[in-house]
Amino acid sequence: MTDDIWSGAVPSAGGLWLTPAGQTWDAVRLPSQLGLCALSAVPGKLGAVLMAPHSRRMYFLVPPRTTTSWNLPHSTALSEADHVALPPAHRGRPPGPHWFIPPRHGRVHTRTDQLHAAVQVALGLRPGRPQEDQPNLAGLSLDQVQGRNCALCNAPLVRARRTGTFCTGTGLLTEPVELWSCEPRCGPHH
Ligand SMILES: [Zn+2]
Repeated sequence: MTDDIWSGAVPSAGGLWLTPAGQTWDAVRLPSQLGLCALSAVPGKLGAVLMAPHSRRMYFLVPPRTTTSWNLPHSTALSEADHVALPPAHRGRPPGPHWFIPPRHGRVHTRTDQLHAAVQVALGLRPGRPQEDQPNLAGLSLDQVQGRNCALCNAPLVRARRTGTFCTGTGLLTEPVELWSCEPRCGPHH
């Protein structure tokens, strides 16, 4: 029930809904550059992500009341007693706060432990994905971005595995893109 995201909301300026955290979600607020790095490092599925361009911040929605021990620098967990101004579900573009990854049925929350690990990677506090699993984000082709070719070795994909969701905020990766690579591993083909 994505409608529950706005549970307890009151209308606010700019068509936003001032919504209490700690009810159906907690939020983790990050500077957007750090958030983009973290987004690419989340190993599992991503839930809804809010972008607030004026303050250059991103908000990841995570399960409610799971952030009490959140302790990472440059990031703030918002739970009971906090409020976040949420845009309506259909607002996926600037200007103003918008859904970078929209809330979808059954896909509202990013797992808190996975986001915590991803922010640690983004902060350089733990190693990221292995080198051989890291796409060259600056050099991807349209075929790679659209999932026709492997994001790692550029071979046409026959069997594919999900490599992750990536976003650099520029070029072909202006918006979050799921990238795919050879299953089980890249290697000599045929
Ligand atoms: Zn490959």
